[in-house]
Amino acid sequence: MRKPKIVILGAGYGGLLTTVRLQKLIGVNEADIILVNKNDYHYETTWLHEASAGTLHHDKVRYEINNVIDRSKVNFVQDTVVEIKKDEKKVILEKGEVEYDYLVIALGGEPETFGIKGLKEYAFGITSVNSSRQLREHIEYQFATYNMEEEKDETRLSIVVGGAGFTGIEFLGELTNRIPELCHEYDVDQGKVKITCVEAAPMVLPGFDPELVNYAVSQLQSKGVEFLIGTAIKEATPDGILVAKGDEEPWAIKAGTVVWAAGVRGNSIIEKSGFEAMRGRVKVQPDLRVPGFDDVFIIGDSSLIINEEINRPYPPTAQIAMQQGELTARNIAALIRNTPQLETFKFDNKGTVCSLGEDDAIGVVFGKKITGSKAAFMKKVVDNRALYMIGGAGLVMKKGKLNFF
Ligand code: FAD
Ligand code: NAD
Repeated sequence: MRKPKIVILGAGYGGLLTTVRLQKLIGVNEADIILVNKNDYHYETTWLHEASAGTLHHDKVRYEINNVIDRSKVNFVQDTVVEIKKDEKKVILEKGEVEYDYLVIALGGEPETFGIKGLKEYAFGITSVNSSRQLREHIEYQFATYNMEEEKDETRLSIVVGGAGFTGIEFLGELTNRIPELCHEYDVDQGKVKITCVEAAPMVLPGFDPELVNYAVSQLQSKGVEFLIGTAIKEATPDGILVAKGDEEPWAIKAGTVVWAAGVRGNSIIEKSGFEAMRGRVKVQPDLRVPGFDDVFIIGDSSLIINEEINRPYPPTAQIAMQQGELTARNIAALIRNTPQLETFKFDNKGTVCSLGEDDAIGVVFGKKITGSKAAFMKKVVDNRALYMIGGAGLVMKKGKLNFF
């Protein structure tokens, strides 16, 4: 009898966890497992703000996929997904195509630019190992050039971060730790450096605990960050950005570096492949399959699940992507064994920790608020846990954050 073919697209949190759980759950004779990813490595998206600011080397945030999969059970294909032909049950790749009986789409998200002019051309994103390297090197280049030029252009030392969500705040935490080092390395007067965070909503970290938000804001302000709240970026230009409060006339902020950290949408492959989506995210069934396509699961940042308690979508997080990956592996094993009932997804919220640099953070863990070094400790525990879930203790020893104190 022909073995069913399970194809997993994307080796991020959701896809890689599905793969490593599936390789344990099913035998080689039960199904073929194929994992497709554009790079031969997995990267910790949740650590990219560190690589972007330069507080952690980019090689520390990635590891080889072949080191965590069982190659006797999983065929890893390094290729880029171009389109999913769901009616023909095949995936078009840049270098070929692959057919499937069961498909898991775990391609992550993309920056949401809301069609704002100039962002794609002039702003940096925190989205991949290479975008992080580019941002870090750009900031260093600005400092080095400022040092060397005869007529000093202080705009080079002005950095704007668009969005005070978790990504923006975590990046600011790292950046404010990195600035004194950069000033020392490039002989730049720290008083000349200007960091501005522009947030459209009336508060930083909208919806998060106000007491913890106040703590984060005052910590970052004490390290030189200026917050412009209730102010939206309207356009990015070669010289900086245009911002406005409500319907007021936009004004310009000059900056040598603009970072866009103002939200994510689903992977563009989703809409390109004709799935019904909201901002690139597909509202999946409780068993994580796509309505009308019983052989297709979508998990992670390209999926959308409603939190019934508040009747709003859950935010796209690694925590959810990993829990979805575990469930998807069990549901696919059930399908190939003809088990009639699939499990449904229930988010088990373990809490949220937002770092403010290596040694500081805020968080709510198991319902308790934490700040400072305690929260920073928890953040490292969370970071190591993701490694442990995919590659066990060996991966934690190799890539983990073990410098707790
Ligand atoms: P990803 O982990 O992004 O993986 C997608 C994979 O698909 C990647 O390997 C990518 O290379 C690959 N891929 C993409 N397109 C293609 C293609 N066309 N062909 C082939 N391969 C492709 N969440 C938390 O829960 N806690 C945190 O502390 C946290 N911190 C964060 C910090 C930062 C700086 C950022 C940016 C996000 C953070 N998040 C956090 C959110 C979290 O990282 C995402 O929700 C999570 O990565 C989504 O997982 P995923 O499996 O959907 O996608
Ligand atoms: P987000 O959507 O959570 O925050 C984006 C912020 O940008 C919002 O506050 C929004 O009001 C603001 N914004 C939107 N348009 C703007 C404009 N034109 N000008 C100025 N501000 C604008 O996005 P994110 O911070 O990238 O986070 C993405 C996902 O990743 C979220 O689900 C988040 O929970 C998760 N994440 C979690 C952590 C953590 O748990 N430590 C860290 C990073 C990201």
